[in-house]
Amino acid sequence: MSENYIVSARKYRPSSFSTVVGQKALTHTLKTAIKNEQLAHAYLFCGPRGVGKTTCARIFAKAINCEHLGADGEPCNECESCQAFNEQRSYNIMELDAASNNSVEDIRTLTDQVRVPPQVGRYRVFIIDEVHMLSQAAFNAFLKTLEEPPEYAIFILATTEKQKIIPTILSRCQIYDFARITVPDIVEQLQRISQDKGVTAETAALNVIAQKADGAMRDALSIYDQVLASSEGNITYQSAIENLNVLDYDYYFRLDEAFQTGDVPQALLIYKEIRDKGFDSLYFVNGLAQHLRDLMVASTPQTVGLLEMNNDIAQQHITQASRFNTRFFYLAMDLCNTCDLQYRETSNKQFVVELTLIKLCQIMGGTPVQQPPQPRVQKVMAAPTPAQPAPQQSAPAQPAPQATAAPVQPASTTPQQPAAPQPTAPRAVAPQPAAPTRPASVASRRILINKQPTGATTSDAPAERHTARTAAFTPEQFTQAWHHYIEQNPGEIILLSAMRNSVPQRLNDTTYQVEVENTVQVETISSNMTKLLQFLRDEVGNDMVALDIKLSPKGVSTMAKTDREIVEDMRDRNPQFAQMIKDFKLSMT
Ligand SMILES: [Zn+2]
Repeated sequence: MSENYIVSARKYRPSSFSTVVGQKALTHTLKTAIKNEQLAHAYLFCGPRGVGKTTCARIFAKAINCEHLGADGEPCNECESCQAFNEQRSYNIMELDAASNNSVEDIRTLTDQVRVPPQVGRYRVFIIDEVHMLSQAAFNAFLKTLEEPPEYAIFILATTEKQKIIPTILSRCQIYDFARITVPDIVEQLQRISQDKGVTAETAALNVIAQKADGAMRDALSIYDQVLASSEGNITYQSAIENLNVLDYDYYFRLDEAFQTGDVPQALLIYKEIRDKGFDSLYFVNGLAQHLRDLMVASTPQTVGLLEMNNDIAQQHITQASRFNTRFFYLAMDLCNTCDLQYRETSNKQFVVELTLIKLCQIMGGTPVQQPPQPRVQKVMAAPTPAQPAPQQSAPAQPAPQATAAPVQPASTTPQQPAAPQPTAPRAVAPQPAAPTRPASVASRRILINKQPTGATTSDAPAERHTARTAAFTPEQFTQAWHHYIEQNPGEIILLSAMRNSVPQRLNDTTYQVEVENTVQVETISSNMTKLLQFLRDEVGNDMVALDIKLSPKGVSTMAKTDREIVEDMRDRNPQFAQMIKDFKLSMT
């Protein structure tokens, strides 16, 4: 470090409003007020730390004393007054840090100063930083001065905690709220500084720094200095994440692969790698949740602006997001959230994380990547899973489940797929399956999974097939496919018990009805619908296959059977059991 090394936060402190980062609207208002000489006697600058409150106060003080004020309200930075400000020798500015000088005595010193008029220039500006730290007595002492200030005195109070400022002060101030600085704004500023210093810096690295700074430019600059010190004039992404102990987002992108292909072993191995690198599991889970959130907002044009990252990194997220559907994001984020909650309570933390990863791998259907990808038209066919109906319905870009009984003309919603065959049967749809905790209220609840090609967003399946398979198949072949699924997925106990109990009945060429006994089975099949349909369609070679789930009339208004219901059922079916209940005078409560 050279002798005249100046930390970036000081060296690159803006000297005019135009170089203040991330506070465009606010600085514009200040400049206009200065230009029009509409000055108040007291200002309150509120906002998080490191966002430019003191900097703006200093530029403000300089500008109102400038001898050649620019037409735009900027200080000239050349006149004697400006130079005195820039060299920190002006008597027209006085700063008090109330965090360390909060006594009545300190305020007295300040108010004594207020009585001295400016020797040169027009205004004397008194900046009180962290004004909420003043003691009650100091506040009171100050209030008098604030009520009757001399003509030349202007107070700028700054605080990170506006809610701690008493109303008597608030009512006497013009209030300016400073926003936290966005990641792209910080990155842009760091790029300018790198250029100025002759340092090469990867955007991805600056992005990491900006994210770590959490909206504070001052923090960003000191983190930048820290990374630069160990980077020998070349700030790379690697040097940044190592220096700042940040998990490489490459891990998250690799996990996406595993989630997409259903590669559980790969997901577990990546997790092990992360642990081996010394990263805390909870940190990882939260990072993963953030990553999934970023992918979700990147998946639709409406929300892509919510991505707080630089263009090329945002682009990476947009590309990645296009490989998943909206349902995946909702379920995945929910799983991460649950994992976060359970993690704190369980003794087997690694297990909770691994289980979450396994579930994440199952959402997209767990199809190996070498299998032919599903046409995009089917990716949106999964019914809203009853457990998560709300997010599905609030999806901005995901077409809502078709609530109409009339088939949607494929051509009207997906003009790029005119060849998609027209479905042959209208179907009844219950778009909002009752939550599993409520009894079914309708006599016969039918849930049909939308089988029409709908206006899928581009966020679905990247490698989509453009022509749907339409092979003819017999009911026997369909039943066979049904049983193949049962045979090949012995682990899915709950789903299989629902499937075993029902034989699909043909409604038309491609639509089959499954009658199940209770709402739990309806929910179970519904929530596995994507996977199940994909399997059946692959087996029979027809992408129009649809399932109509019907709740058996005798199952109406039953939930998962209660113990009592099970016993009643056994009693009704089994006379000996009924006799036993009688004989032993057993009561069913
Ligand atoms: Zn000037």
